[in-house]
Amino acid sequence: MLVEDITSDKASKLIGTIDTLILPVGTVEAHGPHCSVAADIIVPVKMAQEIEKLAGDRVLVAPIIPYGHTWHLKDFPGSHDIPGEILSEYVFQVLKGFYLSWKIKYAILLNGHGGNDHALALAGEKAASLGLKTILLDWWSGPFMEVLNKVVPDFDGHGGEGETSLVWNCGEKYVDASIIPKEDHLRPKSDSIAASSNVFDSGYAKAVIPRAYIGRPSRASAEKGKRLNEEGARLVVELVDRVRAGKFS
Ligand SMILES: [Zn+2]
Repeated sequence: MLVEDITSDKASKLIGTIDTLILPVGTVEAHGPHCSVAADIIVPVKMAQEIEKLAGDRVLVAPIIPYGHTWHLKDFPGSHDIPGEILSEYVFQVLKGFYLSWKIKYAILLNGHGGNDHALALAGEKAASLGLKTILLDWWSGPFMEVLNKVVPDFDGHGGEGETSLVWNCGEKYVDASIIPKEDHLRPKSDSIAASSNVFDSGYAKAVIPRAYIGRPSRASAEKGKRLNEEGARLVVELVDRVRAGKFS
């Protein structure tokens, strides 16, 4: 169920019948010269809608938390940053609200933005201490790697082939196809200090990703994005079932 489709009367009948919350979280951030700065919002929203289509009444899909922690790329035009501790507390309070009012048992934080990870992990730990089992899912890592390896082998990251494809699948207006960079901008070598997002220096992002993208966006397509979205959503639904059964592997 989408929260926006539920009236108060309907909620009174549904409370206690749905055990799982899907809460998308994003941010506003530069994604190369070609993608909307709302990339990290529209991608998890689209996937959450797909999850709802597949799982129907078994999940409650909440409206997205659109503002996130964008420390590394905050100086690029169009980016917007909320301090991590504020995001963390806000997300925790949102989870707590659903836990108390809807009596949900499980929450999936469907995250669209890597910079949110630390804040969301803290929120998840606090929610778990209330009794709400919480899983943080980044669509570019963990269980999603299986889907990514199939659709976009050598997955490349921020504003690259995979992400640009996902954004494109959300609507043509979100990608300016006429200016998709033709040049690849590959990740720094994995053994270099530049490869780590754990460098906290205001010059880091512009030195390592000068045009706010990494990878090969010229290989992107809306079709690849559709597959990533649909197969990713299927994977989340399977994962929810496994977690309900107490299986984490
Ligand atoms: Zn992104």
